[in-house]
Amino acid sequence: MNFQELNLIQPILQAVSEEGYTVPTAIQQSAIPHILIGKDVLGCAQTGTGKTAAFAIPILQLLSQKPAATRAVRCLILTPTRELAIQIDENFRAYGKYLKLKHTAIFGGVPQGKQVSIMRGGIDILIATPGRLLDLIHQGLLDISKIEKFVLDEADRMLDMGFIHDVKKVVAILPANRQTLFFSATMPESIMKLANSILRNPVEVKVTPVSSTVKKINQSVYFVEKQGKTDLLVEILNDATILRSLVFTRTKHGADKLVKQLSRTGIYAAAIHGNKSQNARQKALDDFRNSRVRVLVATDIAARGIDIDDLPHVVNYELPNVPETYVHRIGRTGRAGLEGTAVSFCDAEEKDDLRNIQKLIGFNVPVVKAAIK
Ligand code: AMP
Repeated sequence: MNFQELNLIQPILQAVSEEGYTVPTAIQQSAIPHILIGKDVLGCAQTGTGKTAAFAIPILQLLSQKPAATRAVRCLILTPTRELAIQIDENFRAYGKYLKLKHTAIFGGVPQGKQVSIMRGGIDILIATPGRLLDLIHQGLLDISKIEKFVLDEADRMLDMGFIHDVKKVVAILPANRQTLFFSATMPESIMKLANSILRNPVEVKVTPVSSTVKKINQSVYFVEKQGKTDLLVEILNDATILRSLVFTRTKHGADKLVKQLSRTGIYAAAIHGNKSQNARQKALDDFRNSRVRVLVATDIAARGIDIDDLPHVVNYELPNVPETYVHRIGRTGRAGLEGTAVSFCDAEEKDDLRNIQKLIGFNVPVVKAAIK
């Protein structure tokens, strides 16, 4: 399935294609059609599955097709943390860049003045953390009584963080006649109870938990000192059966440096990251696809849009700080039932990152050899 088949309007298709997305993720394929016809949705999906686009894209489409009846906020997205609020706002910006809808994120921990003045200009889509939202409502600075679409994001985390009462207070002020989308990574009893109290006849959509997808990929980790990583990579890449390898670094500078080091040992590599022009990135990608370069060194942001069918080998030259990013990275391999291998390098400073990754995926990555104690 491609995005055209989801009946999306041209301005959204254009924006999504510029993000580098070619195929909708599983949660997008199953949720978007229901949301577009106005159904409530109960979505079981973790971060990293593309769930933000699964709600943001159809919301943008629905709101843009129905002119605003008021100047009040039309869509509210409630999310537990400031980081998520900012990220969701960025997604709305990306997918809605060719639409005229206004959106903003509000969260605590910063003065409210700027947020209030942005809202005075009129906002269609508001992304908020519960505390700041209630605060502004109580001060009479915000009206959510005209909300048409309500999204509760990461409901289980909301509960874990003790926001349940705030969530209930918000729901109590919302108009009864609305479309509600509810997302949670897990669905324990307490979450189901909350969901049942705010959804109306919802369609349930579920994607395979990240951990079970990840289990199919052959993973290993090397404990290695920082300075020893390049030599280890060269040693691994000396295996001629590895035809292509996607190597992740944390920084743009690190990517460039690694390409130079590899080239000195006779391994053809190219880097893609945000500092490169679109043309340079495209060329690197084409060279990689056509096997002119064997190794592509990428940062996470630049790698988002990469869609290469036959990618059997991924290396985490540096481990990501955000555990979900590990899942994204290694998910590039082993697609469509192909064998996938993901090798990670972990230095002394990265042990906490590895611990967090193992917590997320639910098992310990097998260790190949211990170079450091
Ligand atoms: P989320 O689960 O919403 O946090 O999304 C995870 C990441 O996947 C984000 O970096 C998105 O930009 C990216 N993403 C979302 N949908 C797609 C898609 N259809 N194709 C490729 N990347 C996507």
